[in-house]
Amino acid sequence: MTMSGVDVTELSVGFDGVTALESVSLSVRAGEFFTLVGPSGCGKTTTLRAIAGLADSTGGAVTVDGQDVTDAPPEARDVGIVFQNYALFPHMSVRENVAYGLRFHELDGRDDDERVAELLDLVDLAGVADRDPEQLSGGQQQRIALARALAPEPDVLLLDEPLSALDATLRKRLRVQIKTIQRELDITTIYVTHDQAEALALSDRVAVMHDGRVEQVATPEVVYRDPASRFVAEFVGDNNLFDGAVTDDGAGVAVDGATLPLPEGADQRPGESLTLAVRPEAIAVGDDASDAPGTTLAATVETVEFLGDAYRVHCRWQGRRIECKTTAADPPDGEVALGFDAADVHVL
Ligand code: ATP
Repeated sequence: MTMSGVDVTELSVGFDGVTALESVSLSVRAGEFFTLVGPSGCGKTTTLRAIAGLADSTGGAVTVDGQDVTDAPPEARDVGIVFQNYALFPHMSVRENVAYGLRFHELDGRDDDERVAELLDLVDLAGVADRDPEQLSGGQQQRIALARALAPEPDVLLLDEPLSALDATLRKRLRVQIKTIQRELDITTIYVTHDQAEALALSDRVAVMHDGRVEQVATPEVVYRDPASRFVAEFVGDNNLFDGAVTDDGAGVAVDGATLPLPEGADQRPGESLTLAVRPEAIAVGDDASDAPGTTLAATVETVEFLGDAYRVHCRWQGRRIECKTTAADPPDGEVALGFDAADVHVL
């Protein structure tokens, strides 16, 4: 398999005068697992379809391995695509479905049966080759769809919400399998999901999309720890956001009568309006100010959710909601002190 990167440059797509994508630029590296993530309608699927040649662009360019394919038909692009709903042929066996992926493809020296067997092995379904798709579970059908997309040895694999029709346990299991196969083949992969946890778990890099534009492209760690915008901070990982103005001494931010700390090195002008983001897991919940670190806020617990390895605690402070996560042995209750360090405050 040749190594291919994908470049999308200032791509715009409109449907009946409605802008679906507005000047989207992305550079996906060869061998990379790259994810487009964002809420419904933000343009993820349209971006993927434009890369596959299934959506007409109104401007911009798509290149695969340095070749401009903007106007090339889908079959000339050397990309494999897997959709959310499997799209297997019900009247064909599993083996025939996978072989269908080879219809336009000459294998150098190997025969189709060998290739199909190889692919069924790869997705761990060698035993079901003669069954019909409807005799398989959703997860198995999606693995067959993956094998079919990979059959012609595409340079690039495109996956459009491939797990969203599956239940939560299966989603987690299959996502590990997809990642393992991607690594094994070292194939450039562009994955679409609205699930931020899935995007963070799978990807080498993530593009967070919003309203037909790209808000941030970075590694999962950077997107999580250093969101580039308010939208990214809210979409990825449940940040608590505090709007306020920098105090006269420049050392903190006045929010609802309290002074919240600025991280070291923050260089903000007194009076400047800004937003602070603090992650739920960075906020400690104590009985009172003496057992919570750093800056403390006196809050009231409203709801507690048990997550298995932690509690998610929904509190109210000065009329606003603050969400925390604690690994304490028992759920907190009533009046509490919420504490966090300046180092855990992120300035947006
Ligand atoms: P979802 O997760 O819901 O699939 P998405 O992020 O993939 O959302 P797209 O499907 O790319 O979003 O849609 C982007 C925008 O383009 C939306 O406003 C959508 O309504 C619009 N759109 C997409 N396809 C068409 C179409 N065939 N005709 C008209 N409008 C469309």
